[in-house]
Amino acid sequence: MDAIRLRGLQKTYAGGKRALDGIDLSIPRGSMFGLLGPNGAGKSTLINILAGLVVKTGGTAEVWGFDIDQNPRNAKASLGVVPQELLFDAFFTPYETLELQAGLFGVPKDQRRSMELLRKVRLEDKAHAYARTLSGGMKRRLLIAKALVHNPPVIILDEPTAGVDIELRQMLWSYVRELHANGTTVVLTTHYLEEAEELCDRIAIVNHGRIVADTDKQTLLSQAREKRVVVALETDLAEAPVIEGATRVDLLDSRRLDILYDKSRIQAGAILTRLQAMGLSVVDVTTREADLEDVFLELTGGQG
Ligand code: ADP
Repeated sequence: MDAIRLRGLQKTYAGGKRALDGIDLSIPRGSMFGLLGPNGAGKSTLINILAGLVVKTGGTAEVWGFDIDQNPRNAKASLGVVPQELLFDAFFTPYETLELQAGLFGVPKDQRRSMELLRKVRLEDKAHAYARTLSGGMKRRLLIAKALVHNPPVIILDEPTAGVDIELRQMLWSYVRELHANGTTVVLTTHYLEEAEELCDRIAIVNHGRIVADTDKQTLLSQAREKRVVVALETDLAEAPVIEGATRVDLLDSRRLDILYDKSRIQAGAILTRLQAMGLSVVDVTTREADLEDVFLELTGGQG
C-alpha cells in the first residue's frame, strides 16, 4: 500500500486559478520522495490539501490508506508536516510547544516524548527557553520535532533547508536520513536540486499543476537528453565553430570548446571526428554527466 495516494487531485482557487490540474501520484511506503517544481507549480497547494489547510475541488487523496474525506482523523494522525514558515507562538518554550501539539493530536501524557524529541533535534538545552529567543536554525529543528509528536508514519518537509547555512543543512540532512532509516516515509519539497539528488530515492516533478515526471532518481537522471563535452584544442580559435549535430557550441577560452549535444542524436565520438575533419586537433576531452538540474530544466522549460 502507498504512504500517499492521489488520484485526479484538483484545486481551483476562489479567484479561478487552477493550481492542481488532475494530479495522480503514488508515494510508496518507506521511500524518501522528492517533490520538485518551479515556483507556482502547485507544491504547497498539494501539501496544504494533505495537511487539511486547503480544500480540494476534485479527486481523491489518501494518507496511509485513509481517505482524507472519509477518514480525516486517521489521515491526519498518519501525517506530520513541517511547514516552510517559521511561525510559532513566541510565548511558549520548545517543551511547551511540543506538549501543546501532542495535546492537539490527543497523545496521552504517558506516551508523550517531548524531551526525547528535543534531544533528537539537539534542542534539549533550549527546552525551557522562550521560542522567540531561538535562532532560525533552532526554530526549524523545533518545527521538525513538532511534526513528529504524534509519531506519524509519513512526514512531509516543505523546503526544509531554504535559507539555512551549510552546517545546519548537513545536520538537517543527517537527521532526515536517520528518520528515514528508522522507517519513516519522508516526502520533501525543495528547489535545491542538489538536495533531492543527494537525499531522495524517488522524484516527481510538478509543473503547472501536473506531474511531468515520476520515477526513481537514476531513471530520471538517465532521461536527460542533453550531454556536454568540453574539448581542449591544440590551436587557438577566434570564434566557436559550427558543429553539425551539436545543440550549442561555446568558446570557453581560445583553446577550449564547451559543446552541448542531444545524446539521442549524436555521440561524443562523432563530435570529435567532426572536429578532426575541420582540422582541429583535440588534446583533451571531458564529458559531464547530466544532473538533476538538466532534467528539471528540460521538463519544466527552464523555469527553475
Ligand atoms: P508552489 O508551492 O509550487 O510554489 P503553490 O501551490 O503555492 O505553488 O501555487 C500554485 C498556484 O496557485 C500559483 O499560481 C499560485 O499563485 C496560486 N495560488 C496559491 N495559493 C493561492 C490562493 N490562496 N489563492 C489563489 N491562488 C493561489
